[in-house]
Amino acid sequence: MENINFFALFLSFLFIDQVIEIYLSFRNRISIKNNRIEVPDDFKETISLKDHQKAADYQLTRIHFGFFFRIYGLLVLLLWTIGGLLSRLSFYFSTFTDNDYLDGILLILSIFVINLILSLPVSLISTFHIEDKYGFNNTTYKTFILDKIKGLILSSLIGLPIFLAVAYFVNIFNNNWWIYSYILFMLFQIFLLWIYPTVIAPLFNKFTKLDDPEYEEKINSLLEKTEFDAKGLFVMDGSTRSTHGNAFFTSFGKNKRIVFFDTLLDTLKPGEVEAILAHELGHYKLKHIQKSLLVSAVTSLVGFYLLYAVFNVDSFFIGHGLDHLTTYSKIYLFYLVIGVYTFFTTPVSSFYSRKKEFESDNYSVEFTDGKDMISALIKLIKDNASTLTPDNLYSSYYYSHPPASERINNIKSQL
Ligand SMILES: [Zn+2]
Repeated sequence: MENINFFALFLSFLFIDQVIEIYLSFRNRISIKNNRIEVPDDFKETISLKDHQKAADYQLTRIHFGFFFRIYGLLVLLLWTIGGLLSRLSFYFSTFTDNDYLDGILLILSIFVINLILSLPVSLISTFHIEDKYGFNNTTYKTFILDKIKGLILSSLIGLPIFLAVAYFVNIFNNNWWIYSYILFMLFQIFLLWIYPTVIAPLFNKFTKLDDPEYEEKINSLLEKTEFDAKGLFVMDGSTRSTHGNAFFTSFGKNKRIVFFDTLLDTLKPGEVEAILAHELGHYKLKHIQKSLLVSAVTSLVGFYLLYAVFNVDSFFIGHGLDHLTTYSKIYLFYLVIGVYTFFTTPVSSFYSRKKEFESDNYSVEFTDGKDMISALIKLIKDNASTLTPDNLYSSYYYSHPPASERINNIKSQL
């Protein structure tokens, strides 16, 4: 592996990733722009031309800014890697104290803080310019700052133990450190997923029990059919940040929850609530969380093996701009660049994610009125100003949820 020119490989992959991303965004832009003049036939009765054009303008603005955000993200990645920022920080903190682990903690914390600062332009423009311009933003500056601080503390609490543990395993186990690191990483990931709804999510939002008498009867009969505990139904105050609406299912075991954004609930009729609830129950019944965990277990195993395979190949790190090699800087560099090499797997995970959405829609149609699911989806499209006319190639590459027209046609075919 020493013979590989990693510098050239890195730049080639970056170039290919950028070409793919720009090409797909370009196609998507054309598709949305060309279809802006008219509401697609399937939606003529349900979505007004005004709403359709607002969604198109919103999506086009996002694509426009997305181009600059992509360039910015690329520059940040280059700064960390071949720009030498990680190397300098690693050198600076390597003899900061007498304790190697303490030096490692300081390095990782400084990386988190710098990343937070570097991410500010993009999140400020997204929240207070793009979202605000279209009337979607409800985030105050206070909430924004608090979110950033909480995010920093949280990523430190989650990231530091992992980094320290891997570094410790590298020191004490010769060739098996990656297996122990992997096992610990997976246990930690399962633990985080498990505590997410009860410990992590409430740090950012308020969750209240969903017990509106208007929905009660319908919901209860549905819960009985699917053997889901009513204690797991919650409403989240999504309106504190944005007017976009959503619903999701998370975690497993006793902690499993189905969450409705208050913004979504405001616009839905009881039958539509029932249909979306059935969709989320589908994710639960069809064990989608467990299946995602299994996929993550396999990909993480490959990831840890790759880290092990390159760990003693100095040219790998030097080729990516890291001259000061320590256990910590090497692990972080790997984490920084691995996405560049795995970008081509995005459509595979998108495909499986969309497959799960179709399965859950089918589940919903089995237990509730498919017409309610269709009208609920239309409300979601309006709430989120989603485009009805994405480019096919773009959506198959990136979309975690099938385009609205595909979902609606799939439901219609079962009515
Ligand atoms: Zn879903």
